[in-house]
Amino acid sequence: MAQVIPDKVMTNMALINELVDVAKDAALLHGVLMRIKETPNSSELVTYAPFTLFPTPVPKAVFLQALAVQTHYNTLVDKISQDPDFLQEALASTVAVDDFTARLFRIHQQILKEGRSQSVVLGLNRSDYMLDQKQDGSSSLKQIEINTFAASFGGLSSSTPDVHRHILRVAGRLEESQCILDNNPAAGLARAVAKAWELYGSEKAVVMFLVEENQRNIFDQRYIESELWKRNIRTKRHRFDDVCKTGLLDQDKRLFVGGEEVAVVYFRNGYMPQNYTSEQNWDARLMMERSRAVKCPDISTHLAGTKKVQQVLARPGVLEKFFPNQPEAVELIRATFAGLYTLDMGPEGDRTVAMALAAPDRFVLKPQREGGGNNIYGSEICQVLEGVKEGSERTAYILMDKINPAPSQNYLLRRDAPLKISNCLSELGAFGAYVRQGNDMVMNECVGHLLRTKSSEHSDGGVAAGVAVLDNPLLV
Ligand code: ADP
Ligand code: MG
Ligand code: MG
Repeated sequence: MAQVIPDKVMTNMALINELVDVAKDAALLHGVLMRIKETPNSSELVTYAPFTLFPTPVPKAVFLQALAVQTHYNTLVDKISQDPDFLQEALASTVAVDDFTARLFRIHQQILKEGRSQSVVLGLNRSDYMLDQKQDGSSSLKQIEINTFAASFGGLSSSTPDVHRHILRVAGRLEESQCILDNNPAAGLARAVAKAWELYGSEKAVVMFLVEENQRNIFDQRYIESELWKRNIRTKRHRFDDVCKTGLLDQDKRLFVGGEEVAVVYFRNGYMPQNYTSEQNWDARLMMERSRAVKCPDISTHLAGTKKVQQVLARPGVLEKFFPNQPEAVELIRATFAGLYTLDMGPEGDRTVAMALAAPDRFVLKPQREGGGNNIYGSEICQVLEGVKEGSERTAYILMDKINPAPSQNYLLRRDAPLKISNCLSELGAFGAYVRQGNDMVMNECVGHLLRTKSSEHSDGGVAAGVAVLDNPLLV
């Protein structure tokens, strides 16, 4: 079990308690903040965003590999978004049975029919990985998924390094403290948004954050807003209902919300069916997609991030089609793929069902959903598959090899949770940012990283789902 901190420190509860107090104050001091669940739309009472007491060891080679492959993932997502035939074929079986994907797909088709009204594309994504433990003790980087919509924690993870550095200093671990990497995704994400805003070309137009009903994680977004304001770019936060009530397109398809022209719509809401509480919300989404505003993401980039697309990409020959003259890009991307299996109707899908039923603990069954807590594991895989295996409903899912990272021990600090040592698993994310204007990629970068850690008792769920907490890699 890899660990930064020796056992005698981990079990010295007097010291741990002291460090926990120091840690919580450091989080507040450095702005690793969240609103509390009781009052998610007020900043009168805020708390620290959940985080680990100590950073988690991550092998340097795999960490660098995740950063190095990111610009290729950016390119891949962007190419998929420009390939309607690919999206149509990849998503056909899913769209037939999954209402949410079908609705998104219909918007996509309508935009294709009308023609896109904006040639500037802004992509902010996060590719997430776990480190699969191999027999020989080494680990290999395996992608869990890529989030092309509302990938969060680029803001807060810009401040967590200072918190862990401080904790380690107080714990007397000066050497480790100096090894915590700088990280500033917020600055890079904002740089891309600013570029898109500039290319839109209207000084008075705003960057609109399309935000949730309940905004507990507002500070994560404020980091990016703040970077934009520093450039004298104005930002506005609006909900779907604000867009329904005050949104309109002028004759040139310029988007106005609350009387202000919108240069960029940055979606931080709209990735789950529950986010659309009325038909009007869907109308608002369509209006924004049709508009000249730069959308982050646009509807086709949203679809490019589905788990079904991830599964299709793993089929032989598909990456080669997107990178015809770049075998090295194909190789770098494919090296991060775990086994992914179709559940489409036919002999291949039948084989997937049989394989999953024979050894459910080796797999994860995934529907086309985001936000954590939707996947199916273990014996429940059998229950679900037994119910749908004969019919086309099974095509709402994909099957994936379960990744088994090496556990490490840590304390997960969360408001109102009792302090206890936990056996933990971590997930590493790399933030990608790109801007394209017509055929020109004007920016394509990896802008930072994220480490999230959860107790191994939980097989699923992110920070927002109340399972994972923020962490930092300590390269070993
Ligand atoms: P979401 O879009 O809901 O975040 P993910 O694919 O990231 O969906 O899955 C949610 C969580 O489930 C991940 O953060 C991870 O903890 C766990 N998980 C997903 N896929 C795998 C896998 N192949 N092996 C092990 N754990 C997985
Ligand atoms: Mg996701
Ligand atoms: Mg995820």
